[in-house]
Amino acid sequence: LTEHLKTLSDLPCQTRCGQKVSLLINAGLAVEFEQQQSGVDEGVGLYRTEVPFMMGERFPSENEQVELYRAMLSVQPDKAITMRTLDVGGDKPLPYLPIHEENPFLGWRGIRLTLDHPEIFLVQVRAMLKASAGLQNLRIMLPMITSVGEVDESVRLIRQAYFEVADELNKIGQTLYMPQIGVMLEVPAVLYQIPQLAQRVDFFSVGSNDLTQYLLAVDRNNPRVSALYDAYHPAVLQAMKFIVEQSHAVHKPVTVCGELAGEPCGALLLLAMGYRHLSMNSHSLLKIKWLARSTDIVRARELLELVLAMPDGVHVRDAVNMELELMG
Ligand code: PEP
Ligand code: MG
Repeated sequence: LTEHLKTLSDLPCQTRCGQKVSLLINAGLAVEFEQQQSGVDEGVGLYRTEVPFMMGERFPSENEQVELYRAMLSVQPDKAITMRTLDVGGDKPLPYLPIHEENPFLGWRGIRLTLDHPEIFLVQVRAMLKASAGLQNLRIMLPMITSVGEVDESVRLIRQAYFEVADELNKIGQTLYMPQIGVMLEVPAVLYQIPQLAQRVDFFSVGSNDLTQYLLAVDRNNPRVSALYDAYHPAVLQAMKFIVEQSHAVHKPVTVCGELAGEPCGALLLLAMGYRHLSMNSHSLLKIKWLARSTDIVRARELLELVLAMPDGVHVRDAVNMELELMG
């Protein structure tokens, strides 16, 4: 099977019926990314910048961040690298920024924290921009967006950082490319804000991990209820389908970067819904490429219609697994 998967690398990534599918990587560290060069991916769909922050004993300086981001952007300058601004809080604590809250997942996390500390946000964005000098592959993504006001404020800060850095670079004869800006769709409220968000950003990315947790009101790290956490819950799937339809209606590219995209069952349903950009851990790439190449969209849509009417995620998984067996 491994041999078979290897020969897959050279074949185009498209469905059996010929629709192009782009596969991207979720990464946390540049070194990992370098080792992950598979030839299958079309870039990084999610760079979790909090990972290097979590490994240190203090906030990395602007220059230290420039080094980190430069390493990432320069590995493959022709491939887009989507860098998410710091997404700490919730299950991702920083040892040097203790947060004590009763409901950390409903608390100070992601963009909420960095907009309360614009100096952290600005240093990070400046570092990303400096690291992108001479390159054109940086994209900036905002985590845990709940309302358009947060996007407006973030975009204002990114523009401020852009003009500062462009000025500095200009003095040494370098030009700076304005990166595309996108938001994570992972707080349920934004499902109903897609047209408003589309006026403000260039792309969307669905965080199905958090979206599942918040739609089902289940803390995925609490063992008492974690069995209830299920991305295949028909309501979660309906939400995912709604998002891709809404995004297409406003002509915005949309990626899925939660775990669902790297699972064969999940990817099959996502393709059926209309998603064509999936971002995942690198070890899932070949498996999902195989899945895409074996998928007939018309048939997958029939399966999707069936599973959306099912009572729970267990039935959904059984049905999709059966289809996967038929596909080989
Ligand atoms: C998600 O929520 O689905 C996601 C991709 O982000 P993270 O898992 O880092 O919260
Ligand atoms: Mg998330």
